[in-house]
Amino acid sequence: MHPGIILVSLFAFAKEFSTPQSFIVSEHNFAHKSDHRSMTNTRLYYQNAYTTRFEATIVERVREDGQTAVVLDQTYFYPTSGGQPFDTGTINNVPVQNVTIREKDEAILHWLDTTNLWEDKVIGHINWARRFDHMQQHTGQHILSQSFIQIAQAETVGFHLSDNSLTIDLHTSQLSPTQIEEAEYLANQIIWQNRPIRIRMVTVEQAKKLALRKLPPVRQGNLRLIEIEQFDLTACGGTHVSQTGAVGIIKIVKLERQNNQLRVEFACGQRALHDYSLKNSIVNQLAADLTTGIEEILPSVLRSKEENKDNRRLLKKQQEQLLYFEAADLLQKGTMVGKTAVISRVFTSDELEPGQLRILGNHLTQSGQVIALLGLAGEKSQLLFCRSQSAPGEMNQLIKPALQILGSAAGGGSAAMAQGGGPGTDKERVQQAIEKAERLLLGQIR
Ligand SMILES: [Zn+2]
Repeated sequence: MHPGIILVSLFAFAKEFSTPQSFIVSEHNFAHKSDHRSMTNTRLYYQNAYTTRFEATIVERVREDGQTAVVLDQTYFYPTSGGQPFDTGTINNVPVQNVTIREKDEAILHWLDTTNLWEDKVIGHINWARRFDHMQQHTGQHILSQSFIQIAQAETVGFHLSDNSLTIDLHTSQLSPTQIEEAEYLANQIIWQNRPIRIRMVTVEQAKKLALRKLPPVRQGNLRLIEIEQFDLTACGGTHVSQTGAVGIIKIVKLERQNNQLRVEFACGQRALHDYSLKNSIVNQLAADLTTGIEEILPSVLRSKEENKDNRRLLKKQQEQLLYFEAADLLQKGTMVGKTAVISRVFTSDELEPGQLRILGNHLTQSGQVIALLGLAGEKSQLLFCRSQSAPGEMNQLIKPALQILGSAAGGGSAAMAQGGGPGTDKERVQQAIEKAERLLLGQIR
């Protein structure tokens, strides 16, 4: 096929139809391109995704926001489009940092890290590792999309490929785990049968007579079709492998339901291998750590979780009991002011948790005539002043002056109970705050 025929127009409708199956060759644009730049901008990757070295001529140099780009008469660099990222590589040994399509005329811009715009004749190199990764993932997508149609009549309505993620969105509200498994199995069968994958150019009229997985919403022009022998036929502008075997394997890794769509995350070929290596390493580490076989990891973790829950419940119960004893002990040591026992105590965060200060305060002031001035020192400081119903004193008048010593104003409460917190501080500082409150209290109740 003559390279000129492969001139493709994507932009006119790429906006309304963004899956890679949607790429077309438009007669209108072909005509437009066959004027003074009839040989410019030929997309060589449409015919052959395996070529990584090519010669070309610079036909235009672009400067934009301090960036430089060149347009070549022909290129193997794939530009970001249709859910597939751009190729990287070099042009005359200068790294290509991005490849984009210019909206007004669909020229392919190769963005370069240089201000030197050399001679016109250049040599381009495609980064094969990245190109092949995209070919594997993208071809895998065609296979999996067709598999979901055959197993569950679930159509693909979205596709996204990036360096670390590969997803399709299925238009379906209901898919059983068995259907998911069957679609994955069918996809791998197709891979292992190593079916040929062919590129065909047809007119829209011809395409309408073919059983395309998806017919792009266009009225005229030519379509580039990707055919997986006796399995899938669809319009697409991406790069694909030439036989299904090169995809290696397809593994579905995650499902995410969104309204009436199902997002299927999967991995093909070397990405699937990488995913397996990572998970294998995690599973082996877990098995070693839990000193159990791989099959026993899950029951073992679930058992541990249950035990942990029980232990936490028990610990909480025992801590509450301890607080009772602590309260009884403090009540013994209180200072009597008239008939009121005044108890003051500063804890560190090793001794007590913030929530427990309140429980202790409750225990202390449940009965009798008791005033408790409690403090907690640590990463955050805390004060709790409370009294029993029958005890005198205005706790809310004590809290602010005491908190000032901690460098905080965040606190308040009622006559019976007031509390507040401040920044982290040591025991001595909190002790000073409590002593300040004590002096004020004695003024109140004497
Ligand atoms: Zn494709």
